[in-house]
Amino acid sequence: MKKICVILLGILCLLAGGCSKKSFWEQKEVRLIINAKLEEAKDDEPTKESDYQISQELNAALNDLKGGISEFFKFEYDIDVSKKLEKMAIRVFSQKVSGDGFTGGYTEKGKSYININECIFTDYPEYIISSYLHETMHYIGFISENQTMIDDGMAEYMAAKVASFIGITYLPSECYSYYTLIAEQLCAVNEEYLVKAYLTKKDFDVCEHIEETLKNVNQSCLKVDSIGDHLNLMVETLGKDYGNYSYGMAFEAQEIVACYCRQFSPSKEQIEKIRSSYFVEDFEEVKIKEVEGGYIII
Ligand SMILES: [Zn+2]
Repeated sequence: MKKICVILLGILCLLAGGCSKKSFWEQKEVRLIINAKLEEAKDDEPTKESDYQISQELNAALNDLKGGISEFFKFEYDIDVSKKLEKMAIRVFSQKVSGDGFTGGYTEKGKSYININECIFTDYPEYIISSYLHETMHYIGFISENQTMIDDGMAEYMAAKVASFIGITYLPSECYSYYTLIAEQLCAVNEEYLVKAYLTKKDFDVCEHIEETLKNVNQSCLKVDSIGDHLNLMVETLGKDYGNYSYGMAFEAQEIVACYCRQFSPSKEQIEKIRSSYFVEDFEEVKIKEVEGGYIII
C-alpha cells in the first residue's frame, strides 16, 4: 500500500450553521474546508517471486470458489464473470514484512493473475480464502483507472457479500474498515450502477464518477478544482494518524460521500443504512465556522 505524507497548507473550516434551513438530506451544498496536499512516498519494497508452492489440494479448493463467485454476480447483477475468472491464476510473492503486521495481496489491472503474499499461506492460513476473494474482486473489475482506496472498500464489501452468498466466513481486513464504510454508503444509494460500471466499463474511475455526480453541487466553503481528486486525497489519509488533521480529513471525506448519497434522494431506509456506515461521529451535527484565514469545525 502506498505510504503518504501530508503537507498541510492551511486549514480552514467553516461555516455555517445557520445558512440553510433545509434538512440535512435536502441540502445541495458540499462543505469543503481543508486545503491540503499529500505527497506520495516511495512505494513499498519491491516484491519478488516466491518459491512457495501452493498444494494441488489448496489450489483446487480456491479454484472451486470461482463457480460460487460467478453464480453470485449472475444472480445478483446479471453479469457473467465466469470466462474472465477461468483465466485467473495466483502468483505467490515474497516481501519483507515489517513488525507484527502482515502484507496482503495486490492486483494489477489487466494482468491474468492475482498476487498473494506467501506469508498468508505460511503464517496466516485463516486469511487465505478472504485474501483470495478480496484480490479476485479487484481482478474481475473492482479496480479504478487510478487505483484508490475506495476500490479496496468496494473489494471488501463485495467479497463479504460473495462469501455470504457461498456460505463461507469472510475475515475483513482491519486496515480497510474506513474504506468499506465508504463503499457501503455509496452502495446504499447506487449499488447496481456502481457494480455494473466497475465490471463492464473499461476505464471506470470511481472518483471521476463521484466528481461527475457532484458537478452541479455548490461548494459552500472552500472551493476546490476537482471534488473527485479532493476526495481521493482525503480518503488516502483515512486510517492513518495525522494528529489533529485526521478528524478534519475524515469529515471532509464523509461530507463528500454524504453529498453523493443525497443526489439520489435516499429513502428513509437508505438513510438508515448510510448513517450506520458513517465514520465521523455525530456527523450530521457537525458545524463549520468561518474564522480568519479559513474555516474550523465546531
Ligand atoms: Zn485491495
